[in-house]
Amino acid sequence: MPYKSWFDEHTSKHKKIVDKLLQKNFTTEEIIEYFDFENMVEMEKDFCPLYEKNKKCHDMKKLNCYLCACPNFRFNDNGIEKIDDKTKYSYCSINSKKGELGTYGDAIHQNCSGCDVPHVKKYVEDKFDIDWKKIMKECDLDE
Ligand code: SF4
Repeated sequence: MPYKSWFDEHTSKHKKIVDKLLQKNFTTEEIIEYFDFENMVEMEKDFCPLYEKNKKCHDMKKLNCYLCACPNFRFNDNGIEKIDDKTKYSYCSINSKKGELGTYGDAIHQNCSGCDVPHVKKYVEDKFDIDWKKIMKECDLDE
């Protein structure tokens, strides 16, 4: 799935959940806690395909899903730059040591599978905005 399609789909899924919680007068702290993996698996089965298998995307004891994907992720489905005969489509804006660029055929993509940065509760609290799209406003380089 192109990044943009995933991003737009995820924006509306995220908003739907947050709107529901706001209607129930959840506080910021309660909203963040609601996005804890263990709760999300139970309550929001369609939010992430991994929930079906009760599988975490990262091996962490306490994993928060509010900031999936990551505010530091940058992408452009049309390509960001050419590197030799390959095209780079995404990268990490903070160059996290836990992430890396991966080559997949003639495409280069950011591989975040080893990075837990956006899933740490303290990080979510620091970056928090009720509007997920606002936190992610710099991700889509084509906007
Ligand atoms: S490597 Fe980590 S900080 Fe960088 S975009 Fe991926 S998840 Fe975010």
